[in-house]
Amino acid sequence: MSDKYPHVEIEAKWQKTWSGEKVYTIDLAKAKKPFYNLMMFPYPSAEGLHVGNMYAFTGTDIYGRFMRMQGYDVFEPIGLDGFGIHSENYAFKVGKHPVEQAKRSEQNFYRQLSLIGSMYDWSRTVETYDPGYYRWTQWLFVQMFRHGLAYRAKAEVNWCPSCKTVLADEQVIEEKCERCGNIVTKRALEQWFFRITAYAGKLLENISRLKWSEKVLVAQEHWIGKKEGINITYPVADEKGNNIGEVICFTTRPDTNFGATFIVLAPEHPFISTIERVIKKENLALLRQYIKDTQKMSSEDRIAQGRKKTGVATGLYCINQLTGQKMPLYISDFVVMGVGTGAVVGVPGHDLRDFEFAQSMGLPVVRVVVGADGNKGPITKPEQVQEDEGIMINSGFLDGVAITEAIEKMKDHLEQKGWGKRVTTYHLRDWLISRQRYWGPPIPMIRCDTCEKSGKGERADMPGWYTVPDDQLPVTLPIIEDYKPGDDGVAPLAKHKEFYETTCPGCGGNATRETDVSDTFLDSSWYFLRYPSVGSLTADTSPFDPALTKQWLPVSMYTGGAEHSVLHLMYSRFVTMALKEWGYLDFDEPFPNFFAHGLVIKEGAKMSKSKGNVVNPDEYIKLYGTDALRMYLMFMGPFSEGGDFRDTGMEGMSRWVGRVWRMATASLESGTTIDTSAVVLKSLHRTIKKVGEDTAKRHYNTAIAAMMEFTNLVNDHGGTLPMPLLKMFLLILAPYAPHLAEELWSRADAVEHGVAKGNAFYSIHQHSWPVFDPQYLTEESTIVVVQVNGKTKGSIVIDTESSSSQEKIEAAVRDSEKMRKYIEAGNIRKVIFVPGRLVNFVIS
Ligand SMILES: [Zn+2]
Ligand SMILES: [Zn+2]
Repeated sequence: MSDKYPHVEIEAKWQKTWSGEKVYTIDLAKAKKPFYNLMMFPYPSAEGLHVGNMYAFTGTDIYGRFMRMQGYDVFEPIGLDGFGIHSENYAFKVGKHPVEQAKRSEQNFYRQLSLIGSMYDWSRTVETYDPGYYRWTQWLFVQMFRHGLAYRAKAEVNWCPSCKTVLADEQVIEEKCERCGNIVTKRALEQWFFRITAYAGKLLENISRLKWSEKVLVAQEHWIGKKEGINITYPVADEKGNNIGEVICFTTRPDTNFGATFIVLAPEHPFISTIERVIKKENLALLRQYIKDTQKMSSEDRIAQGRKKTGVATGLYCINQLTGQKMPLYISDFVVMGVGTGAVVGVPGHDLRDFEFAQSMGLPVVRVVVGADGNKGPITKPEQVQEDEGIMINSGFLDGVAITEAIEKMKDHLEQKGWGKRVTTYHLRDWLISRQRYWGPPIPMIRCDTCEKSGKGERADMPGWYTVPDDQLPVTLPIIEDYKPGDDGVAPLAKHKEFYETTCPGCGGNATRETDVSDTFLDSSWYFLRYPSVGSLTADTSPFDPALTKQWLPVSMYTGGAEHSVLHLMYSRFVTMALKEWGYLDFDEPFPNFFAHGLVIKEGAKMSKSKGNVVNPDEYIKLYGTDALRMYLMFMGPFSEGGDFRDTGMEGMSRWVGRVWRMATASLESGTTIDTSAVVLKSLHRTIKKVGEDTAKRHYNTAIAAMMEFTNLVNDHGGTLPMPLLKMFLLILAPYAPHLAEELWSRADAVEHGVAKGNAFYSIHQHSWPVFDPQYLTEESTIVVVQVNGKTKGSIVIDTESSSSQEKIEAAVRDSEKMRKYIEAGNIRKVIFVPGRLVNFVIS
């Protein structure tokens, strides 16, 4: 047999066999112990799979294979999220039509995926641009509309000037477009939204029962951003004291309201139209210029602490009903419309931003909380601004009360007086779902002018709008040539009459289709529900088969990147909750278990195309084989943290794979009768235990290290293993190096049973995880002194249990190369044994 592991032939051979024998396709309906092992939906970059993707896939696959060996019916599907800006932008870049490019990307991606040795069920793939799939994405939109969760509204929205479309808040990361990295601006546009905020409370509440990586839960909690506060109403008066309306300010700290000295409105606040009517002419021009200037800035810049505060005085006053005092009303860019009510009550003594504003406007600062140092005097410096704990002063009925208690007392007081109302607010905004792009599922809505004018429509609150009737779904995306987006915010489909002209489902007259497409994140918000139902009898009549869904969902274990914390993971939870409420599902959390994997870097640097250090797995697979690459990726560091890809490390792993190959082939050649030393046996059982425990916890790196330690030990003890032990080792290696383990397993089988056994193919991957024998695991050891003719020659270390057995001690001494020579120097006449302490060989 060859010394070198022939990975190319062996990996190709087994991939073909697995696929031919359908080793990884299970009968979903018959499964007794279903385990749905899912990797986050890939949206392959058209360049194909990079090593970071393979990292995630491999870590997921090892877990799936391990659970299968634990007796579960593991379903591990794969597909791709190929609609959307990401794929479309790439098609533009390479000058291909998105439809054509999608086909090429799919082919390349699936080809690469078939090489990485994962146990995918290739009979049930999902591609989001398949009309058989997006028909149901559109169905989901229709359900959202029918249940009042989809609506159209004009709003200040994020606009990516490069992608030429609007984006949801979650898709703007540090002011940049999540897909292309360009700076996002704001535009006031009428758009479609999903009312995810209706589920804000539930999304937050359920977090406590999710078994997810902690950092992801924290990110979700933060994004939902629940705040309990109060809306306080302030009457507004002009200089002469005439009432001209009222302003409502949200605050979580009403306790400090005796110290309020001004009110500030966001430049977008609707009350400004009232102000414009009553403000003095010379101030009006100033105000309008200020509003114009503000529109050029990002919200993040506007609210940044420490930035010089600017503003415009309106000449109007708000009345603090607690004190009867007049507080000047300002407009300032540090207040944004999306936060609270877009109006802030200024308490400069106890809020740093308010203090900064008061300083630059020359407004009074009043202390209402005793300083941490006991200071009760005026507040003149930023460091004296007391934001947190303390005791109230200068606050009427609250004097002497601690802040936390004062907050509730003040809320009670304001509510009793009718000046305020307790409210809970969230940072989470409704999900902006429409995109002015081509490459997505057309939004299945129809608008009719006639019905709009007469106030008719499918929903009373949205006259003129109808959903596309169910039997007309899908609304197929037509193949058009002018698919590029424009700067005008009008979608490419809007140029195609043959697409948008249709009949009104209400009055039968002429109507038009919506020409925006939906956000890609809608495609991926429900795909996990589809996989088990692909190819089922109900695949064409329902989005997911009720019986299979009941049997297979929610997902048993979900693995993916933490970067989707508030994107995909939030949207999917929302969609699942809605489907549960409508009676389609009997669970409200799609992923009770979620594991966030780490990221791969290259030689200390983040992988990026511009640096040219993106690792393509293809070349490494060719050079070292899939198994060596799988093992190396998992060995780089803890799976939850990622690791640094180094070619030298890759070579090291390749050498170890070669060592396993030689150890196994040598074992098979030398037959099955070699005696095993106790040390090897014990180490094997410990390794089985360790690899099993670590794999369950996804500590793959330490599991691999344990296997390496074991093979080193075998090397030190003759270099071969008897058949039963070799097979046990191959079983624990199988999830990590599926091809290598399969090949050696089949060779071992041939040695044991002869080649032509005529039985059906029985893959190593259909076997159970080996059971370790606890008798080999006793942790405590005892030192037993070894004497020859009463003279100490050394000692042996043995587990405490065995140390009282004379037979085991004698065997251990014979096993030890160092000790053996003493007792073999003559004939043993007598053995004196003191259990657990000493053995004395009397020889002559
Ligand atoms: Zn963009
Ligand atoms: Zn109509």
